[in-house]
Amino acid sequence: MSASHKPIYLDYHATTPLDPRVLEAMLPWFTENFGNAASRSHSYGWQASEAVELARGQVAKLLKADPKEIVFTSGSTEGLNMAIKGIAESSGSIGKHIITIATEHHAVLDPIEWLEKKGYEITVLPVDIYGHFDLNRLKECIRKDTIMVVVMWANNETGVLYPLTEIGMICQAAGVPLISDATQAAGKIKINPLESGVGMLTLTAHKFNGPKGVGAIYLNEKGLRVKPAALIQGGGHERGFRSGTLNVPGIVGLGMAALLRQNDLLEDGLRMKRLRDHFEKSILSTVEAVFVNGDIDSRLPTVSNVKVTAVDSQAVMNRFRSKLAISSGSACSSANPEPSHVLLAMGLSAAEAKGSFRISIGSTTTLEEVDKAAQILKDAIDAERSQSPLWQMFKQGIDIS
Ligand SMILES: *Cc1c(COP(=O)(O)O)cnc(C)c1O
Repeated sequence: MSASHKPIYLDYHATTPLDPRVLEAMLPWFTENFGNAASRSHSYGWQASEAVELARGQVAKLLKADPKEIVFTSGSTEGLNMAIKGIAESSGSIGKHIITIATEHHAVLDPIEWLEKKGYEITVLPVDIYGHFDLNRLKECIRKDTIMVVVMWANNETGVLYPLTEIGMICQAAGVPLISDATQAAGKIKINPLESGVGMLTLTAHKFNGPKGVGAIYLNEKGLRVKPAALIQGGGHERGFRSGTLNVPGIVGLGMAALLRQNDLLEDGLRMKRLRDHFEKSILSTVEAVFVNGDIDSRLPTVSNVKVTAVDSQAVMNRFRSKLAISSGSACSSANPEPSHVLLAMGLSAAEAKGSFRISIGSTTTLEEVDKAAQILKDAIDAERSQSPLWQMFKQGIDIS
């Protein structure tokens, strides 16, 4: 299959292709420079260690952080488990209350649910139709025994940006550490955890043209009341926070990806925003009864989440799987897709969530791809609706929600 016959890829929030410059930087660390960064007695180890420290500086720079505040991980799922379970473990004397929001990724919600089963008390703040939660409500929910507040920087499905600086001020005033999943924000918009009062955040390379299976946490010990307990114990790597032989090629790739994103951040962000807006305008003007999910005034430049009345996104996508790769408003990890918990939390019905699509743009996306994608999606929606009794009912003014 030649590249031109592959489906157009507009699912960059799921993962991104490796930038060729990142691959080039990584390659020698698989082959001739194969040393273990923890080997202190010879140049193989020293070289690997130097490469890791260079990458640590590159990641730190992306976050305007100190290299000492960066700990390498296998990605955001691990980083979030480490932050949430690690802080919970270390906060025994302070309390067992955790606050988070309903639109978090499962990499946050699942470890928190696991803690709930172990006796922790969880407050999940609800969100409105725009995806936002009430900051006053957060203030009211913080208690003496609250050990952390967990709020993502940007939502993966809708792109909604949370006001981290304001949230950080509330948490700092109450003396409660703020943890943030910045997986979708890192490398796409400027983020500065220190300025925003974030004690710990996570990112992963594969969401910004780096390799899969490598990420980092930012860990500001002054922003935390306790030192998070290590989940993975062993040789004491990464200052004891995360043991295990370092993935040197992956870390080099993460560093290079961070460097490249930092150089291109503003220009590329604007370019992607124009493409996203172009796509959205095109769908909104050519397809009836389409709505954008989430706060359109405060979201990432890379994503559009649209609700299409009276269709099932799986059925629509079945019509173009060989031509266009996008994702639906449901968790496709199981055989029977459940409607997205994010869209449900925003007040959409199960049918509305299942009639939603996520189109996400990357730094290699072109105007031609976006135009074609809008046409493919429109044609499939039209075809699906032409056979849909539900759509006929909607046209007759019957409430189908
Ligand atoms: C992709 C993603 C994760 C998981 O990151 P991995 O590195 O793939 O484990 C967590 N949170 C958000 C918001 C994501 O988009």
